[in-house]
Amino acid sequence: MQLECKTVYLLLGSNLGDRRTIINAAVELIARQIGPIILRSSWYETAAWGNEDQPSFLNIAIAISTNKAPAELLTETLAIEETLGRIRKDRWGARLIDIDIILYGDEIIDLAGRLQVPHPRMQDRRFVLEPLAEIAGTVVHPILQRNILTLLSSLNDNLAVTKLI
Ligand code: ATP
Ligand code: CA
Ligand code: CA
Repeated sequence: MQLECKTVYLLLGSNLGDRRTIINAAVELIARQIGPIILRSSWYETAAWGNEDQPSFLNIAIAISTNKAPAELLTETLAIEETLGRIRKDRWGARLIDIDIILYGDEIIDLAGRLQVPHPRMQDRRFVLEPLAEIAGTVVHPILQRNILTLLSSLNDNLAVTKLI
């Protein structure tokens, strides 16, 4: 059975190695294996917080169109993380790419802790809401019933997130 296509928002992040190249590689694999990219935010740089030894993060948000069911989507994103992580693990010894599923259409999903969508911490994180607002400002959070711009304006997160030009 073919599922109807959903618009899914993903947040990609990297804080080690050649961050842009790694994120670009992830976007290419997502387009090839999961579904076409509809929208892509600018690059955002987030200062590492708490642990000053950590390099800063680069993040982007993307919207994709996919007919993959939520569990299959998670399997695919974890596999892409592993593919990219594995290539670089020997060189830098750390996870270099994080792909989080932020929104899956307007669905509320809870697969026994394995997958929660909307991402349970999205509303608390400037590094999620800033890039997301650029491509999904009027999209409504299906639990909180507020759109992304509204969530961003009431956000209590002082972490510096800089849009790169
Ligand atoms: P956070 O989720 O707070 O950003 P993280 O991204 O560092 O933390 P990971 O170690 O990348 O956490 O993921 C741990 C597990 O979280 C994944 O293996 C996955 O099963 C689960 N998970 C639950 N909900 C989601 C979601 N919406 N997107 C991605 N993974 C999720
Ligand atoms: Ca994450
Ligand atoms: Ca993750």
